[in-house]
Amino acid sequence: MAAISPVAPAAETSARRLIDSHGRVIHDLRVSITDRCNYKCVYCRTGEYGAQYPELGIEEYLRLIKLFVNLGIEKVRITGGEPLLRQGLIELIEELARLRTPKGEPLDLALTTNGHLLDKLAQPLKTAGLNRVTVSMDAVDAPTFERITRVPGSFNKVIAGVRAARDAGLTPLKINCVLLRGFNDNEIEGFARFAREENVVVRFIEFMPLEEGRLWTPEIVVPLKEIVDRIGREMPLVPMPPREASETARRYTFADGVGEIGIIAPVSQAFCGACSRVRLTSDGKIRTCLFSQVEHDLYGRMRAGEDEKELSDYIAKTINGKEARHHIGEPGFLKPSRSMVHIGG
Ligand code: SAM
Repeated sequence: MAAISPVAPAAETSARRLIDSHGRVIHDLRVSITDRCNYKCVYCRTGEYGAQYPELGIEEYLRLIKLFVNLGIEKVRITGGEPLLRQGLIELIEELARLRTPKGEPLDLALTTNGHLLDKLAQPLKTAGLNRVTVSMDAVDAPTFERITRVPGSFNKVIAGVRAARDAGLTPLKINCVLLRGFNDNEIEGFARFAREENVVVRFIEFMPLEEGRLWTPEIVVPLKEIVDRIGREMPLVPMPPREASETARRYTFADGVGEIGIIAPVSQAFCGACSRVRLTSDGKIRTCLFSQVEHDLYGRMRAGEDEKELSDYIAKTINGKEARHHIGEPGFLKPSRSMVHIGG
């Protein structure tokens, strides 16, 4: 894990940058705009529950996001639940595309989706001002894919969505795949070929204890080294240099320079020391870490009538208290009360 600076300044808002008590600059906000999802991926959801948390009005998300942007957030990723289910998404993207950071620059606007509705929405999203999408896909063959999502016909829908996003210029197009041993780890080499054939960046993500049920064990995680070794046996990989300190993925290209894969290894090679993220849940709570045990009710304060200054101070103070790191795999580790789908991945 990258070292955490020992500096412990108060949250620095005067320079319009959000800095936590470990010296990390927080410039990346993930916002869940709905708790609903049209997939029931077996490693994420039990299949017994639907949405568990309310959603806010689009105007309310916009007001909250503006507060963060005025404090120095430069990158906003819209997520869920499944964000493409949300009415008003295009209007939200249009408004976000008009915002400027304190440096006067447009936001880096991204969205994470399961891709099911992307074939129709890719072009309108691009036109509205979205820069990039990440599509979650956990298999490259239809039967395995549909066994995971529990939605018949989903594979062809998502492939159509991926191609529509690429054609609309929502690039570089990233495909995120969560690997589980004995379940879809036989897809690793197929995904590497898919990255090259479809001209997309495939990123493998280690499975984290954030599921609704109790599936996670250390043994089910397929670690970074194993993924690299397995692909390398068939197609030699060449490491690529990181583009920024807070980059979560270790990036590799292939020996012939065609294609890119990445591996996000929060379990075997945690990157908390370089974390630049904070999250806002669909019901307007700030989460300073995926594994936070506490949530901070920003929306409640807005509803109670706090003004922009009071809300901004609350955000800065909350971010100042961001956890140093997660404790996955350590004795006494506690799963957070919300699972990934209800936090916003
Ligand atoms: N519906 C959208 C989607 O499919 O991308 C956004 C929400 S989904 C929960 C966000 C991402 O979290 C997906 O890529 C999913 O695979 C990932 N995810 C869910 N549970 C996870 C877990 N326990 N560990 C790692 N990633 C997980």
